[in-house]
Amino acid sequence: MQDSRTFSSKLNRINNRGYKAYQELQGEYDFGRYRLFVDHVQGDPFAAPSRVSVRVYQDRAKFPASLFQKKPRRIALCDYLARCFSQAVKKYCGGIRGTGKSGLIFIDSGKQEILERSAVVINESFVEARFFCGLPARGRTVLSNVAEKMFFQEIPEIVEASLYYEKLNHGELLEYVNLAEDQEYIRESLSEQGLVAFIANGSVLPRRSGISDLPLTGPKVISFQSPASLEVSFNTPNHGEIRGMGIPQGVTLIVGGGFHGKSTLLHALERGVYNHIPGDGREWVITVRDAVKIRAEEGRRVEKVDITPFINNLPFGQDTQQFSTDNASGSTSQAANIIEALEMGCKLLLIDEDTSATNFMIRDGRMQALVTKDREPITPFLDQVRPLYEELGVSSVLVIGGSGDYLDVADHVIMMNEYSPVDVTKEAEAICSQYPARRVPERGEGFGKLKPRIPLPGSFDPQRGRKTKVGAKGLDVVQFGHYQIELDDVEQLVDPSQTRAIADIIYYAWKKYFNGRRSLSDAIRQIEEDLDKYGLDVISPFREGRAGDYALPRRYEIAAAINRLRSLEVR
Ligand code: ADP
Ligand code: MG
Repeated sequence: MQDSRTFSSKLNRINNRGYKAYQELQGEYDFGRYRLFVDHVQGDPFAAPSRVSVRVYQDRAKFPASLFQKKPRRIALCDYLARCFSQAVKKYCGGIRGTGKSGLIFIDSGKQEILERSAVVINESFVEARFFCGLPARGRTVLSNVAEKMFFQEIPEIVEASLYYEKLNHGELLEYVNLAEDQEYIRESLSEQGLVAFIANGSVLPRRSGISDLPLTGPKVISFQSPASLEVSFNTPNHGEIRGMGIPQGVTLIVGGGFHGKSTLLHALERGVYNHIPGDGREWVITVRDAVKIRAEEGRRVEKVDITPFINNLPFGQDTQQFSTDNASGSTSQAANIIEALEMGCKLLLIDEDTSATNFMIRDGRMQALVTKDREPITPFLDQVRPLYEELGVSSVLVIGGSGDYLDVADHVIMMNEYSPVDVTKEAEAICSQYPARRVPERGEGFGKLKPRIPLPGSFDPQRGRKTKVGAKGLDVVQFGHYQIELDDVEQLVDPSQTRAIADIIYYAWKKYFNGRRSLSDAIRQIEEDLDKYGLDVISPFREGRAGDYALPRRYEIAAAINRLRSLEVR
């Protein structure tokens, strides 16, 4: 084992040499209090920074096993430690010094959500942080004295402040882990109470702005308060009884005037599939894991999706049992989005009229009279929302401000009134019998069966020129070979590190599981098992396997990316 003195003398030896000389640092070093790994050295000072890890063994780190034995607690602990590490970087790192990314230290820590990440790993034996260093240079020559400062002063201080249990704020850490565990507990308990979502009293749903995910603050914020008729409670392991509004399984409408907080409530439910940090305002907004936001997405590609429950008899006899297009319309894209989500096991659809195709959602009596059924390919969602629940057990929460026809198909109607929910189910029923809808229900034959889709491995090509080109560009784009997969409208993707993971998962799926016989949903389930067993490192293309910048995506977002790959072919 090399030690820190070897590291230091290597550094001295390469001073003022060409940047490539940094390669000599690659390897493992005993720094006494911790192990240092230089996993990968960047090619030049402008390239993606070098990958470095630090491992502290538990005889020194001393994290109590109770903080990481159970998975939800471990995820929260690792997430917390990455944030501590990041704060320590702000405090101790001198920042950019020299050319390109020289002098930078960075760890991939989270924002409002608590996600399973690869930046910090903890087990019985050690805690390990994976981070990034811009190895310093002037022009393209090695600056050893700056590197010396980073590796012998700054990193030790950062590690000291974040990876030893005794140095941390125990109260804050325990609350963080306990809170995440309770969020998970409620999510797991929803179905026992016949619910698909829960919003605790006192929650703060609105965000600071359209481009900020931080909670809105100030005197104008109305905190959430459940109507008495929908109030439920959970007995959490760490926070005792938590009360709030339960959204039952079935069909639930959110109605109300414009600008009264309908979309804000739905957005909070979309994010409720993830755990949130203390102080977010949505810590106790919990949605079932298998909830998918559905919207219209004009222009997307669709590959052989059976959209017949919604669309039949297109002009020119176009096939809707295996519907393919390079340029979907509002309604066909929304239909495909639903079928693809169901294919992956979705149990709750979240739909906002603001982002839906009108002709997909409704068709009223007058329009039925004018454009008779034999001329209209679309069966509106209105006529399928009940079969979805009754045949497939798939619930829906719908934001509907404009169409009273939906009152007929709802189990519950919640009105948002000046940002507060009111249960108007009874009133809605009375209105339905007083003013019967003037429309005829369409398509009596129910929803029908879902068919698995089998991706053809030959339709994936990760190469661009002679290079493998697989990666993410920010939150919304996956690069796969020649193709850019656009994910702007996949709204439950929340972290660019999830996008990065999705890119490498597609490659992994193609190498390992797409064989022309396995369905898309089976392949993704297999990958989920691998991820559960081996952690996020399993998808890493790096030889030593330590990739510090992944966050776990859900199966719905993985499938969404594959379904939007423009070269995808399905058997
Ligand atoms: P709708 O969908 O009913 O038209 P939105 O949900 O878009 O309304 O909300 C309208 C505005 O009100 C947004 O700017 C939002 O941030 C704000 N808002 C929503 N809920 C609250 C609340 N509980 N307290 C204060 N402001 C809120
Ligand atoms: Mg709205």
